[in-house]
Order: sequence, then C-alpha cells, then structure tokens
Amino acid sequence: MVSVLALSGCGEGRGGDATADGDGDGFGADAVIGVALPQQTSENWVLAEDLFNDGLREAGFEPIVQFANAGVIEQQNQIEAMIERGASVIVVGAVDGAQLGTQVEAARAAGATVIAYDRLLTQTPDVDLYVAFDNFQVGVLQGTALLDGLAARKGEGPWNIELIGGSADDANSTPFFEGAMSVLQPKIDDGTLTVVSGQNTFEQVATAGWLADNAQRRMDTVLAGFYADGAELHGILSPNDTLARAALTAVDSAGLDVPVITGQDSEVESVRSIMEGVQFSTIYKDTRALVAETIRQIKLAQQGESFDVNDELDNGVTGVPTFFLPPVIVTQDNAVEVFDGDPILEPVMSEFK
Ligand code: BGC
Repeated sequence: MVSVLALSGCGEGRGGDATADGDGDGFGADAVIGVALPQQTSENWVLAEDLFNDGLREAGFEPIVQFANAGVIEQQNQIEAMIERGASVIVVGAVDGAQLGTQVEAARAAGATVIAYDRLLTQTPDVDLYVAFDNFQVGVLQGTALLDGLAARKGEGPWNIELIGGSADDANSTPFFEGAMSVLQPKIDDGTLTVVSGQNTFEQVATAGWLADNAQRRMDTVLAGFYADGAELHGILSPNDTLARAALTAVDSAGLDVPVITGQDSEVESVRSIMEGVQFSTIYKDTRALVAETIRQIKLAQQGESFDVNDELDNGVTGVPTFFLPPVIVTQDNAVEVFDGDPILEPVMSEFK
C-alpha cells in the first residue's frame, strides 16, 4: 500500500520563499474549494468524488466537487462557476488539459490557487501545482509487465503484440505510451516483438475519450484484418483496465487465445480477472493517497506555506511544480500484499484465498 506519510517526507521542497498561494497570505480555514473532475471513464474518478467531499469537509473546507460528463465546455462552465462562488483553490482533473487556459487564468486573477490533479494542465502558465502518480513510470511498469507476462505464459518468443493508447486529449496518455515504448521499442527493433498490424504510433493506437467501445471496435478491425489467417496474438499493451476488458472481449469474439494483457487502475473486475489468471497485470494508484496528498497540499496553501514538491514538469509553457507519488505494478504474485488495507480491494482478495 502506498503510504502518504512516508511519501510526504520524500518531497525535496522548492526552497526559496515561493509560497503555495502565490501571495503568502494563505486563506480562510473554511474556504470554498472547487474540484473539477472529468468524465467517469474509470473507477478512480468515481472514488475521488466521495474522497474529496469527505476529506475537504473533514479539513474544515467547503467543497464543490463536480464531474464534466458532457465534456470540455461543461468543465469550462463549472470552473467559471467555482470562481464566481469565490473558491480559494480550484483542483482540476481535466477532460482536455489544453482547453482550460482561459478559465485557470481567470481563477488566478481572482486570487485562487490552481492545482492540476492526476492530469497535467498544458499550454498555460496558470498552474500552481501538479499532484499525480508518475505517468511515465506507469508506462514503464506496463511495458515491463507485458514482457514478463510473455516470458511467463507464451513460450520463448518472438511474440506478436498489439498496442492500445489512451485518449489523445488527456495529457497522461502520451507519457503512459512513451513510458511503455521505452521498454518495448528496443524489443521491437531486435525482433523479439512484432506489432502485426503495424499500428505502432500513439496517433494510430489512441482511444478517443478513453471509451471501451472505441478500443473494442479498433481491436475487432485489427483482429479481423491481421489475425484471421491463423496468426497468434500473444500480447496486448493496454493503458488501463477498462480498455483491457474491452480488448479481451474483442479477442474472445475473434476466437483467439487469451493474450497477456496489461492494465491500470486496479478496478475490481480486472483484479478478479487477474486472480482468475486472465488479465495479466494492472497498476495500483491508490486514489485515497492521491486525494489525501492533494488535501495536504491545500492545507499548506491555506496556511500560506510552500507546496511540497519532488519534480517539475514542462507543460509546454512553463515548468509546473509537481508532487509525484509512485505507481505500483500488480500481478497475481503480489496482489494480496499490495491490496492489504485497501477497503475495496482487500475484500476482493479474500474471495481468492
Ligand atoms: C488516469 C487513468 C485512467 C484514465 C481514464 C487517466 O488520466 O490517470 O488512471 O485510467 O484517465 O479514466
């Protein structure tokens, strides 16, 4: 389990006299805090809603937590309404991190602190902090798991694989893919892996809106086009659990053997699938730890103190002070240990004892 306490100590701190809310004055202990979340495209977002509401209230703040299920324009309107309501901090899990420049500029002009949550806000100087799990590292872990799974389950190789990417408007999708390709590309180059469809760029494999239907449709087409002649599919790089399950549905309809497939988010259905020996891996990004870390940073801002940071990310315009938590790879081998103490996943583990 990821420990927030342990992590908070590893931040290097930014030093200097930069203060979290920009002016060093802090803000009221009962301030309004806006949290703008994207669509409910995976369980982590749904969990975050309750965790932010409960955690912010417990800390004495007044939360406004909203999803933008209708997309970018709804999220822009929600952030504008949060500014109107006098929010001291606006936390944003962006639908499209490049489309909120006007809103975060207005937020800052109104004196609010802007925190990018899980997904980086890009092409804007108006971000005070980014709090997330290290997205490139997620990809590295996924690429490594795919290779490990192939070696464990699919003989000696060479192996046939296909790649799936996340949504192009989510700033996380590129680091997920690039992290994975940093491990897989050398194995493609030396002939250990073959992407049979030839679709190996992010643009070719991206999944609009992170929607399961889009991934499944693309896989149906790839499998019909490149595997109908009896070619074996040994592995699939999937960026998250929802898309992994969609890809497995396509594989099943095509009548192919279950490939080694990666995932992310430790969604209950995928965790069960891993324990049943179907999906190979997932990533644990404990949403409780990420929300708790964000609230801890908000309290620093409230007191007029500096944020605690351990990295800096280039968002295309500026270096954004970043606090990264470490993602954890999960397979059948370590699931019980990793999910120990997780209120949702530990009970799932007990089904498999
Ligand atoms: C999150 C992933 C999630 C995906 C789809 C990403 O930004 O980091 O955990 O699977 O969005 O919801």
